[in-house]
Amino acid sequence: MRLAEIIELRPVPAAGLLATLTRRCPLSCAHCSTSSGTRGEDTPAAALRRFVGGFTAGNRPEVLMLTGGEPLLRPALVGELAMLAASAGTRTSVLSGMFFAADGRVPDRIMRALGHVEHFSASIDVFHEREVPRAAAFRAVHLIMESGVDVSFHVVGDSVDDPYLADITASIRAEFRDRAAVLVNHVRPVGRAAGWAAARTVQADGAGAKPAPCAMAAWPVVAFDGTITACCNQGVVDARPVPEHLRLGHIATDDWTRIRSRCQDSPVLRTIRTAGVASCADCRGLARRPAALAAAERTGSRPVAGAMDALGARLQRDAGAEVLMRRYGSKPYAPLVLLGGPVDEEAPA
Ligand code: SF4
Ligand code: SF4
Repeated sequence: MRLAEIIELRPVPAAGLLATLTRRCPLSCAHCSTSSGTRGEDTPAAALRRFVGGFTAGNRPEVLMLTGGEPLLRPALVGELAMLAASAGTRTSVLSGMFFAADGRVPDRIMRALGHVEHFSASIDVFHEREVPRAAAFRAVHLIMESGVDVSFHVVGDSVDDPYLADITASIRAEFRDRAAVLVNHVRPVGRAAGWAAARTVQADGAGAKPAPCAMAAWPVVAFDGTITACCNQGVVDARPVPEHLRLGHIATDDWTRIRSRCQDSPVLRTIRTAGVASCADCRGLARRPAALAAAERTGSRPVAGAMDALGARLQRDAGAEVLMRRYGSKPYAPLVLLGGPVDEEAPA
């Protein structure tokens, strides 16, 4: 499964499920906003299995994206969830910081797990390179690619002018002969390990900003404790209680049918996805402003609201991955998300 296919689905309500498997991570990237470390919660495995096992051929997300922390600290669970998802027709993608690759190898237990997934995305940036050297990460990604899994890189830099971005993207393109897509983002105050999937459409906490539709309110997110939120904003994922309009349920007590329906049909979420909000802080704060929340509820309950929501999602999907990443990622590097697939032997070196 190509990265571009996954990105195109991102604005489509309930087309994907983001599941965090653990807050643990052996790496210690300075910019990690999930506060991951060697200690941390593991999302309850039995409840995750039950929830993903509830997908059916006629009622499932297209994509299950496993993240963390470092999801590959639980390789057996990654394999199990991917198999359960596949039995219903859902494809699985894994986002990893490559903690296991410092010597350029992929341990057997991780390769076995990745044998069940359709896409592997490796995070790489100046922080990761301090812990996992670039050459070693590349060797390990080659091994994963040669095993038949589609691969991509998620790169983060400070800004479009960051020389690191020019250097690393050129390095990836040369090393993988454009068979690996590259998604470039700038460091943002969102869940780092969720990477591009957590890209913002609105200012995180900007004051005075104009309302903008938020496509990030389209995929349910399973947090470390099993709570399911309506978006991946770290301030929402970590909040307890989660603001009611951004809480979809819990993996222990809800099934996919209920979560999908809340995601797709919530009037407030429809308003957030179509009319938009000024900032994530404003959005989270709706819970403290009953009049604004009621207005959002009214707007999203109008007879045309569902059709507008569906149309907006379809237009964004049809616009394609590059257009989406011009808006949500690093604009000059957006075309690199289209890379991937077999080598074109005719192409100039
Ligand atoms: S950014 Fe990713 S790899 Fe780095 S510490 Fe956080 S979860 Fe681990
Ligand atoms: S907090 Fe609201 S505006 Fe921000 S990503 Fe979540 S749903 Fe979108």
